[in-house]
Amino acid sequence: MKEYKCEICSQTGARFRSYKKVLGLVLISRVSYTKPRALCEKHKVSEGAKANLANFFLGWWGITAFIWNIMAIISNFTGGKDVTETVESAYANYVKGVAEAMDKQKVLG
Ligand SMILES: [Zn+2]
Repeated sequence: MKEYKCEICSQTGARFRSYKKVLGLVLISRVSYTKPRALCEKHKVSEGAKANLANFFLGWWGITAFIWNIMAIISNFTGGKDVTETVESAYANYVKGVAEAMDKQKVLG
């Protein structure tokens, strides 16, 4: 497994984390995820608390959103979602796609 550094304190052993953001307005309710960030054990919790700030203001104003928001707040306070595998495979696919596209350029050029 690859070793990643925390983007805040540079400590190794970080994992990519993503946090839930809930928007609960009377007619529009949705859950989205923050961009993945490499964070250590300590910072995954403090960054999750920051992500929750927006949920405290925007997450309550709908019936389904209210329930989603409770789940999101618990999830964020415990470090959010570990998306390291997703980030690694998305990156690998992207790099492969770029390599294939560049190979086609060679054939054409
Ligand atoms: Zn850190």
